[in-house]
Amino acid sequence: MQYALVDGSRKEAFPYGRGTCQTCGSATVAKCGPRVMHHWAHASRRDCDPWWENETPWHRAWKNLFPEACREISHLAPDGEIHRSDIKTPTGIVIEVQHSAMTDAERLSREAFYGNLVWVVDGSGFRKNFSIEHELPAPKSVIAQDLIWLPAGPKQHGSNRGIFLRLSECRKHDPTLTKATARGGLMNFLRDHEAEVLASYEGHHQYVWVRPHRTWLDATCPVYIDFGDDWLVRLETYDETGLRCLIRVSKRKFLHDVMVETDADAIGTRFYPIP
Ligand SMILES: [Zn+2]
Repeated sequence: MQYALVDGSRKEAFPYGRGTCQTCGSATVAKCGPRVMHHWAHASRRDCDPWWENETPWHRAWKNLFPEACREISHLAPDGEIHRSDIKTPTGIVIEVQHSAMTDAERLSREAFYGNLVWVVDGSGFRKNFSIEHELPAPKSVIAQDLIWLPAGPKQHGSNRGIFLRLSECRKHDPTLTKATARGGLMNFLRDHEAEVLASYEGHHQYVWVRPHRTWLDATCPVYIDFGDDWLVRLETYDETGLRCLIRVSKRKFLHDVMVETDADAIGTRFYPIP
């Protein structure tokens, strides 16, 4: 933990420090060795927040992007269940920064507990299995309603560069077809239609994730992956075909929006002039 209570106030770990856990009230000791990130640990093993994972420098760096008062916030449910979130913004959005793999059960229970939650996932461990592929028009654009994209996939060099059918073409043979039920038809290549299709580009792409961490694909709260650069990647479902896509959101915009939006789903969806 970054913080413990010392004489009633939140303090970062200092050499030989003693404090109490903000969440469970038991004794904590400061760990300030020369080769460890300074942190607090419970003096004896005990039942504190079972969701808490040991902090990595990546965790600590994320917390430190926020004002001190936003970090390590305890939440008490009406039934007495208590948990400590990594970050809670003044507008009420909880951010959980997650380095380790997580089971579906744990993800679901945290999503239910916090509700207005955003996941930020450390992508450094699977970066080489993840590639960003061709651009897509914004899902709500007029042209997007007519295009049915072939899913990207490992070694799908054609569809990874963009291949689509036109629903309007498919309906000439069967007017009842939808994007979800159309099966075959004339294939069009994005490279032949870039001006028409990408006039509606707003940052969406197909992606390929080999051996994906499935729980993040099924999450009900927004999932942002941090690959260690200036951009986050938000996982989304593109349309009624179930096509998976991502949208790139700059870290600066994310950090701005979580402090002003009240709904986790609204992050990265509206324009603000960011200084
Ligand atoms: Zn505790």
